[in-house]
Amino acid sequence: MKTSAFWDKKMETISRESLKKLQLARLKETVRFALKTPFYRTRLKKAGIASADAIKRWEDIKKIPFTTKDDLRECYPDGLLAVPLQDVVRVHTSSGTTGTPTVIYHTKADLDSWTDLVARSIVATGAGKQDIFQNMMSYGMFTGGLGLHYGAERVGMTVIPMGGGNTKRQIQLMKDFGTTVLHITPSYMLHVHSKLAEAGMEIKDLKLRKAYLGAEPYSENTRRKVEQLFHIDAYNSYGLSEMNGPGVAFECVEKKGMHVWEDVYIVEVIDPRTGESLPDEKEGELVFTNLTRRATPLLRYRTRDIACIHKGPCACKRTHRRISRITGRTDDMLIVNGVNVYPSQIEEVIMRIPQVGTNYMIRLEKEGTLDKLIVQVEIYSKMFRGDLNEIDRLKEKIREELRASIIIHPSVELHEPGSLPVFEGKAKRVVDNRQKL
Ligand code: ADP
Ligand code: ZN
Repeated sequence: MKTSAFWDKKMETISRESLKKLQLARLKETVRFALKTPFYRTRLKKAGIASADAIKRWEDIKKIPFTTKDDLRECYPDGLLAVPLQDVVRVHTSSGTTGTPTVIYHTKADLDSWTDLVARSIVATGAGKQDIFQNMMSYGMFTGGLGLHYGAERVGMTVIPMGGGNTKRQIQLMKDFGTTVLHITPSYMLHVHSKLAEAGMEIKDLKLRKAYLGAEPYSENTRRKVEQLFHIDAYNSYGLSEMNGPGVAFECVEKKGMHVWEDVYIVEVIDPRTGESLPDEKEGELVFTNLTRRATPLLRYRTRDIACIHKGPCACKRTHRRISRITGRTDDMLIVNGVNVYPSQIEEVIMRIPQVGTNYMIRLEKEGTLDKLIVQVEIYSKMFRGDLNEIDRLKEKIREELRASIIIHPSVELHEPGSLPVFEGKAKRVVDNRQKL
């Protein structure tokens, strides 16, 4: 059986009852801070919450209106700042994957709470001060760099703050320093594998044991592929700048969903169309409230990320509930000739086909009045040396498996390794040329 130590055993194994009490007390305090901002003063008063005393029972959270990404954009840059600017020690923004980046301010105590959650997450994966940690997420405004960095230092790991890109050097450093743990996007991880041979390196030359994969949606099959290619354990790591960054939810050694650190985050799942709460195991939009951040309080923030809350306790004994893998964003959905398709469904199918390599793209074109979905897939080079019939058969197999899963007939293009665009941070795999006509 795999086990891991605890970073903060008391808090990680707190009883559900005590946890709920703590959440309520912290929610009240957060509402008190939120009311200091011009945005929430208006928004909460309109909802009948003129002071924190309006929050008496846990269920009162339902009285609080949702906050959206657009609200944050309208507050740019400091409409949500709840402390004097002189108490702010750092500013982060989101990556801007879906539009203007959003801004989050942090006090020293805010950073301290965030760092502690990252430390907790790292220890839950069985890593510790004996590990050499190479952070391959970009540093700067993006939270994946500094977020993991400080958590790893707090745990006492040896940190290599390499940031994203420069693959050759990344591989060299992994070897020279004996890196054991990586933090990286899944798309970049697969790319790194394709570059290993070029760098004259084999897996056995490296000491890798674990990778924390996050910042973009990916399928269970991609995780498996990474684990098999690198002979490591890959852990899912979820976070978003609006809720600090990484360390919101993280897999433990059980790898059966990500524990949400509920002493700091209230997690809800809602129907994105109606805003109604959904029961456990039912997929919907994740909504988070940060319970400890003072500089930028955010209440019931609609993430647009789709997942569910898992039922039941985890074998690791942590009492904080787990969420599933993120299957996509509400605004990720593609409508192809009237049929809804998520890019993650496509990835799930192609990544389980053994001949498929480490990269793919999804293109949408207009053909007359119809939409055309083209899935471009890199396959391993030995296939290209094989006979043409074999390539045709593979193409047909991918097409057929996709059709069975997404109901539409895509076109499939097979490409040589290294020929599709490479992403060193968050991948942008969908190119939609339909509007351009
Ligand atoms: P942006 O929303 O501009 O990409 P962030 O840099 O804050 O801003 O990234 C957070 C987003 O990244 C999340 O809302 C989610 O969509 C995605 N994300 C982060 N971690 C994961 C993960 N493990 N699985 C799927 N998606 C993730
Ligand atoms: Zn667990």
